[in-house]
Amino acid sequence: MRPSLPKASTRLGLFAVLLSVIVLSLFGSLIAADRAITATGAEAVKLDARGAALVAERELRLHAEALTPMFGPLLPAATAQPTAGDTTTIPRSFSSAWVLDSAARVVWTRNRNGGAVDTATVASAARGALHGQAPFVRVAAAYGRRGDAILIAVPLSHRGQRLGAAVGVLPGSRLLAGLRDSTLPRPWIALSSGGRTFALAGRRDSSGQISAAATVHVPGDPIAVELAHAQTGRPLRITLWLLGVLAMAALLAGLARERVHAASLAGRTAELERLYQEVARSNRMKSEFLANVSHELRTPLNAVVGFVEMLREGVYGDLSPRQALPVDRIAASATHLRQLVDRLLDIAKIAAGRLEVHAEPLVLRPFVLNVASEMESLISERGLALSIGVGPTLPRIRTDQTHLRQILINLIGNAVKYTPSGSISVRARVVGNGAVGAGDIEQGVATYAVTPPPDPKKSWIALQVADTGVGIASIDQERIFDEFEQVNAGARTDSARRGTGLGLAISRRLARLIGGDLTVMSELGRGSVFTVWLPLDERKADDRA
Ligand code: ADP
Repeated sequence: MRPSLPKASTRLGLFAVLLSVIVLSLFGSLIAADRAITATGAEAVKLDARGAALVAERELRLHAEALTPMFGPLLPAATAQPTAGDTTTIPRSFSSAWVLDSAARVVWTRNRNGGAVDTATVASAARGALHGQAPFVRVAAAYGRRGDAILIAVPLSHRGQRLGAAVGVLPGSRLLAGLRDSTLPRPWIALSSGGRTFALAGRRDSSGQISAAATVHVPGDPIAVELAHAQTGRPLRITLWLLGVLAMAALLAGLARERVHAASLAGRTAELERLYQEVARSNRMKSEFLANVSHELRTPLNAVVGFVEMLREGVYGDLSPRQALPVDRIAASATHLRQLVDRLLDIAKIAAGRLEVHAEPLVLRPFVLNVASEMESLISERGLALSIGVGPTLPRIRTDQTHLRQILINLIGNAVKYTPSGSISVRARVVGNGAVGAGDIEQGVATYAVTPPPDPKKSWIALQVADTGVGIASIDQERIFDEFEQVNAGARTDSARRGTGLGLAISRRLARLIGGDLTVMSELGRGSVFTVWLPLDERKADDRA
C-alpha cells in the first residue's frame, strides 16, 4: 500500500503554526537585539559621564591650586588698597579675582582686563557662593557659583595662620572647554548646579540621543556634568530592523513559494495516483479479458487439434498424398496456436494474480530426473546429449512443484530448440550465505561466469539448465524475459521453431511467484546457462534428502 497524502487542512494548519512561530521568534530576536544595542549605548554614555565628572573635578582642583601662590604675598599688607603699580596678575583662566581679609572684607579686586571690581557686589557674591565658608575656608578649596561662572575660594595663610581667602571667578565656559578637550568629543555636554544649567556646548537632540549625568564631588556647590551621545545606536538599530524585516520578508516569500510548490506537487501526486489506479484497473481488465478470450479459444482449438489428428491417423479414411501435406501444416499450426493460447492464459492468470502457490517439500534429484525423462525423447530426437548433475545430498526445499516443473520444461525445451548440436546439462548446487561461492558452481557443459544470487545474504539452490547452443548476445539477455520477445524467431512456417516468445516471460514470473528468480548468462555461439534460484529455508538447511 502506498502512503496516502496528509489532508490539506492539516497541512495548512501546521503551516500557519510554523509561520507564526518563525515570525514571533524573529520579532523576539529583533527586539532583544534592539534592547541590547540601546543598553550598551546607555552604559557607555553613563561611564563617559562619570569620567567627565572626574576630569572636571581635577580641573577645578588645578585651578584652585593656581590661585594661592598668586595672592599669598598680598595678605601681609591686607589692608592696603590695590595700587596702579601692583603687578599681581590673576591666573589666565579666571575672569576676575579678589582677596578677602580675615574679616571678610574685600581688600583687593581685579578684572582680567585690569579694571576694578565693584567690591560690595563681589563680597556678597563671594559670601553667598561660598555658603559662609569665607573668609576662612576650612577646606583646601571651596566652590560656588555665580551666574554662569564658578567661584573658587582658597584659604590664604601666613606661617600657619589663616589670614583670609583668595577668590577666583572661573567662567563655566572655560571648564567646559577643558572638559571637551580631555573627554571624547560629545555632541552635547552641559554643566549644571542647583538644577540650573550654567554652561553648555553642542545641541541636544531630544529624540535620539542617550544622555547621562554624573556629579562632580567638590566642597561647596555640587556641579553636575551631563553628557549626551549622538551615537545612540540608532543607525545600527535601523539597520538591524531593516535587515530583520528583509530577512523575514524573504523567509515568508520562500515559505509561500514552497507552499505553492508543495500544493502543485500534491495536485500532481493526486493526479498520478488517479492515473495509476486507472492504469491498474485497465491492466486488470486487460488480463481478465485475455484470460476469458484464451479460455474461450481453447475449446474450439482443442476440437480442431483433435479432429486434425484423427484426419492424420486416417480415422476418416486415408489421406491422399496431395492432402497429407496441408493437413500436416494445419496440425502444426493448430498445435502452435493452442500452445500460444495456453501460454497467454498463463500470463493472464499470473497478471490477474489468479495463480496460486502450493508449496510442499520437494527432493530435487528425483524431481529433476522425472522431468528429464519426460523430455528425453525430444532431446535424443535432436541427437543431443543430456547430463544431470543434481546431487542426492542437496537440502530438501519447499516449493510449488507444478510451477517449478513448468519452468524446467520451458528451459529444457528452449535448450533443445536453440542447440543444433552438443549437449544439455541440468545441475544444482547450494549457493549464498557462505555456503558455496557462486563461482564454484560446477560447470558441466560450458564454462560461464554465473550470475549472483538475488540476495547474497540468503541461501539458495541454483538449479541450472546449460546448453552448448546458439547463445544469446548480451544486449538481448534482458529483453528475452519480456513478453513476446524473441531473438532468432524461426520462419513463420516453421511452427516447431517459431515459439511464442512467452516461455521465458512466464518462467521468470513463475520463479518470482515461488520466491526465487530466473537469470541467464550466455555467450553468442557458445551456449547459455539459465539459473532458477530457489530459496532455501534456513532452518531446514541441514535437512538433507
Ligand atoms: P520462444 O517461444 O520464442 O522460445 P521464450 O520466451 O522461451 O520464447 O524465449 C525468448 C527468446 O529467448 C527466444 O526466442 C530465443 O531467441 C531466446 N532463447 C531462449 N532460450 C534460449 C537458449 N537456450 N539458447 C538461445 N536462445 C534462447
